[in-house]
Amino acid sequence: MWVVCADLEGVFVPEIWINIAKKTSIEKLKLTTRDIKDYDELMTYRLRILDENNLKIKDIQNVIASLKPLEGALDFVRWLRKVTRFTIVSDTFIEFAQPLMDQLENPLLLCHSLEIDKTGRVTNYKLRQPDPKRKTVEAFQSLRYKVLAFGDSYNDISMLKAADIGILYCPPENVIADYPEFPVVRNIQELKNLIKQHISD
Ligand SMILES: [Mg+2]
Repeated sequence: MWVVCADLEGVFVPEIWINIAKKTSIEKLKLTTRDIKDYDELMTYRLRILDENNLKIKDIQNVIASLKPLEGALDFVRWLRKVTRFTIVSDTFIEFAQPLMDQLENPLLLCHSLEIDKTGRVTNYKLRQPDPKRKTVEAFQSLRYKVLAFGDSYNDISMLKAADIGILYCPPENVIADYPEFPVVRNIQELKNLIKQHISD
C-alpha cells in the first residue's frame, strides 16, 4: 500500500518568499532553498531581513492572501486524494500556508510554525523536527506503507532518497545536475503517469 508525500512550493503553489520579495520590492528575500541549501542559514537570513525592513506577520499574510495555487494544482490534489493516500510535506510555516491550503481544499499538511511576539514581529521559527521531510517518509514506512515522494528542490532530496520512489518535478537544472539518480518530470500529466505506473493498489 502506498502513500504519496509531496512538496508544496514550486509544485502546488508559487514560491512564497519570492512573492513576498516581489510585492515588497526587497530583493534580498528572493533567495530560496534553490540558492542556499542550508535551511537554518536561509531562515536566519530571512528573519534578519524582515527585521531590517520592519515587516510584521500581518504584512506578510497580506501578500500571501493575494496568491493563488499554480495552474492545475487543485485538480491534481483532487486526483491524488482519489487514487491514493496523500500528504504535503513542506518547509513553509502554518501561519503562511493556511490561505493557500484553503484554496487546495485542505489536504493534510505537515510543516513548521513561527514564533511571533505581541507586536507581530516574527522572532523565531520552530521546525517540526530535524530533517522533517525524511522523517515523514520513514514514519510512513514504519507503518508498513511504501512511499512515493516528489519535489522540485534541494530541500526535497532527503525525502526523495528515503522514499521507495523519488521524483523531481520541474526542478532547476542545478538540482538535476547534482542528483541525476532521480527521474525528472516537467508537467502534471507526466507526473500522474509516473505515479500511476508505480502505485498499483
Ligand atoms: Mg519546493
